[in-house]
Amino acid sequence: MNKSYFKYQSCNRCLMDTTTSKIVFNENGFCNFCTDFIVRQKNTEKTVSDLDKLISEIKSDGKNKKYDCIVGVSGGVDSCFALIRAVECGLRPLAVHMDNGWNSELAQNNISNLIRSLNVDLHTHVINWEEYKNLQEAFLKANVIDIELLYDNAMAAVNYKLANKFNIKYILSGMNTSTEGFKIPDDWVWFKNDARNIKKITKKFSNQKIKTFPLFGTFDFIYYEIVKKIKWILFPDYFNYKKDEAVKELEEKSNFKKYPYKHYDNVFTRFYQGYILPKKFGVDKRKLHLSNLIISNQMDKNEALRIMQKPVYENLEDEKKDKEYFLKKMKWSEKELENYLFEKEVSHSFYGSERELWNSLHKIYINLKKIKKLFG
Ligand SMILES: [Zn+2]
Repeated sequence: MNKSYFKYQSCNRCLMDTTTSKIVFNENGFCNFCTDFIVRQKNTEKTVSDLDKLISEIKSDGKNKKYDCIVGVSGGVDSCFALIRAVECGLRPLAVHMDNGWNSELAQNNISNLIRSLNVDLHTHVINWEEYKNLQEAFLKANVIDIELLYDNAMAAVNYKLANKFNIKYILSGMNTSTEGFKIPDDWVWFKNDARNIKKITKKFSNQKIKTFPLFGTFDFIYYEIVKKIKWILFPDYFNYKKDEAVKELEEKSNFKKYPYKHYDNVFTRFYQGYILPKKFGVDKRKLHLSNLIISNQMDKNEALRIMQKPVYENLEDEKKDKEYFLKKMKWSEKELENYLFEKEVSHSFYGSERELWNSLHKIYINLKKIKKLFG
């Protein structure tokens, strides 16, 4: 077994360990991440009647509209599953895909096969590559951990904007509690609606302005969610979602080709999770994903431990290929990448952030909800 795995104290129940400073253990040696997840899983449990209610709400709101919901499709298993179920429930979705220039060919094929077999409309938002590259470059230079903040932020913006444009109130996401319900440790990720952080980092490390990149900040969230009443739904939660079963179903129904690992539908995501995160930040996200599968009874802990014994990239050939692709696409030399890996991490908050603003507004919102409940 990998030696480094034993250097850290790890949970008795899942794979989370002290590579995150945010972990605490109870008297049984169980960590806060799996303990919280078990509560969350219970709280988000959905019944058949919850699903019926949701579908009839979507249908009734969507009357006389071209589409009644948006389904964001990355090409990954979770979002493809969400789209299949939406169609099976008799909904009329507009599938939305965002292309940040790093899509894997496999993902492209999976999306087009699925769209064809379901006969739904697809809107692909292509992000200006030069601009995106410039933003990624700035994030790399800033030595912040969450480079994928750019993708996640833009994806939210694109989905909400389109929903608003077509007057659609429901965004059905492939995000789900069953495979993603573990909270990502705060020191592994950054607050995703942080438009200010993106602007500040870009201003500091780039001489180009943000022109077309679809930013999404706290006030955008308030506008779309509270004023426009657009709802972001974790759709697979309504179907007792199990990853393996979903892959099988997708393979049968739309000639889906599975990925070797979670989030590997995008080459940058793959290189980020498989190379940059472990080598520069000492973070192996497999611990989180596999723990999630263990606690939701989708994988045996021994099997997960066996996977953890393997390197993040299953073979060096793939790692080499992705590294070369990254260097070519970012126009970096090998030396530049080496230097980057060596430089120390800087916190996102150092550059300016709207996380505090979000936290304060969120607190007010929760309190208002409590008051509303008290007074009926
Ligand atoms: Zn745990």
